[in-house]
Amino acid sequence: MKRREFIGTTLAVAAATGLSACNILPGRTARLKTSGKGEMHLRFYPYELTLAHTFTVASYSRNTTPGVQVEIEYEGVTGYGEASMPPYLGHTVESVCAFLRKVDLGRFDSPFLMEDIMAYLDTISEGDAPAKAAIDIALHDLVGKLLETPLYQLFGYNPAKAGPTTFTIGIDSPEVVREKTLECAGRFRILKIKVGLDSDEQMIRTIRSVTDLPLAVDANQGWKDRSKALDEIFWLKENGVVLVEQPLPKERLDDTAWLTERSPLPIIADEAVQRLRDIPALKGAYNGINIKLMKCTGLLEARKMIAYARAEGMMVMVGCMTETSCACTAAAQLAPAADFCDIDGNLLISNDLFRGVTVSDGLLRLPAAPGLGLTKI
Ligand code: MG
Repeated sequence: MKRREFIGTTLAVAAATGLSACNILPGRTARLKTSGKGEMHLRFYPYELTLAHTFTVASYSRNTTPGVQVEIEYEGVTGYGEASMPPYLGHTVESVCAFLRKVDLGRFDSPFLMEDIMAYLDTISEGDAPAKAAIDIALHDLVGKLLETPLYQLFGYNPAKAGPTTFTIGIDSPEVVREKTLECAGRFRILKIKVGLDSDEQMIRTIRSVTDLPLAVDANQGWKDRSKALDEIFWLKENGVVLVEQPLPKERLDDTAWLTERSPLPIIADEAVQRLRDIPALKGAYNGINIKLMKCTGLLEARKMIAYARAEGMMVMVGCMTETSCACTAAAQLAPAADFCDIDGNLLISNDLFRGVTVSDGLLRLPAAPGLGLTKI
């Protein structure tokens, strides 16, 4: 990109985000004098995530999660992104790499053209959300670094409002659940419990024998009978549960609406919502949506989903998959705009590649460095 074009783009971004262009331009202008050709270079490589504990939800168990790390380099600056592919969503390292090989960023002369780039990715294929999210995250990191500004600041969010994150405890034997709860109860302000099997009541009683912390529950579509689900939700409320995620199968929209109308706790859609276009049908059936970058293709679409949900009076939860601190820190940039955060994926793995968002006193702490603010380990 030529210097004048860059300044024009910078001014446009600064105007859109309310930033002072005067604060941005001098450093970037100096760097541009020694900059390269103004082309984006995309690199990617598979990286398997190792889970610290076997993870069990209503439908499966696993010890690893396949992932692909992405880098986009521009003007000597590198933006980091990541695709994480929990097996139940049908994406694989091969499908992500096959998609990324089709991407030609040479069509665009600037990473600032995010709307154009993301629209182009949707023309390559209908799905492939994790691969698209990896590029979106890397572009955002890159743009933040080029503007020398943390992403949450570009978005206009107050990092002090990034609240608590839940920490997830998978389905397991009472002994393991008790041990895991003891391990984490002092470090978090709210826990998330996977339910949806016959052991729900035992899980809750086991956790309650160890801690009084508020709990969110996620049935992962595991409940099948709406009346039994309603009874269980009343019982859960008496036991300090504050939120229910995806109680019934996602196709059962009428039954979910029936449940939500009667539920004393907010009902949040997770499996039922992937992208912006899915939200209109959910209005009235759920109280809120769980936005995950790997489902929705990244931060650009996630911010539109937040705006749409707010306009419809719906709650916003920001979640994640099992991810390194790269994608988790990207999700955490949205934390100040969320009612609930479930951003613990990086805490569940033993081979993280980055330092980024941290949890201190149960609260998400966003790094202050430009872009995502990541440091490579
Ligand atoms: Mg969920």
